[in-house]
Amino acid sequence: MTRMLIVGPAGSGKGTQSKRIAEDLGIVAISTGDIFRANIRGETELGREAKTYVDAGDLVPDSVTNRMVEDRLSWEDARGGFLLDGYPRNRTQVVALDEMLGRLGVELDVVLELTADREELTQRLKRRAEIEGRDDDADESAIRRRLELFESETAPMIAEYESRGLLRRVDGLGEVDEVNARIMDALKG
Ligand code: ADP
Repeated sequence: MTRMLIVGPAGSGKGTQSKRIAEDLGIVAISTGDIFRANIRGETELGREAKTYVDAGDLVPDSVTNRMVEDRLSWEDARGGFLLDGYPRNRTQVVALDEMLGRLGVELDVVLELTADREELTQRLKRRAEIEGRDDDADESAIRRRLELFESETAPMIAEYESRGLLRRVDGLGEVDEVNARIMDALKG
């Protein structure tokens, strides 16, 4: 398993788990959200393009996001494998990723979905707002928007990977170690 996606709603623990999985498997974890936040902090051109969307919990336009991911996947460290966290998030991005991977001559091995119910997600995001200080976690309407977009845009996209036979679903409720063990089991199975 060297080329994978991790998908799940905001607060499902994708970021935490993807860092651990990537470390265990010796591949690079690429988080589109982290890249946007770093660029916003650094006040780069990309950061300026992304900021209003990220703050509102909206998707950054596909053209911007796709370009950024294609660039990142071309780096040397992604050659041996990667775990994409937070991308793709809609059908347009799935098509774009298929094209990128085709150009690189590689294929996805697995798509991991982390599940959690909405009540738990909202609580986790509020707790995270205090710890990490993300503006989009402190803002109720940005939280609502992200969860809505997950349902309307991302869930149908996940169905596409399910029909390709790539999907492994893992319950994201519980301690970090517990969830990690479930993921490792799912990757073996
Ligand atoms: P979360 O899963 O908690 O919403 P992320 O760090 O994955 O956090 O994403 C934060 C924000 O970054 C999103 O709300 C969106 O504005 C932007 N973003 C991240 N990934 C994408 C993507 N694939 N397409 C468009 N926007 C994205």
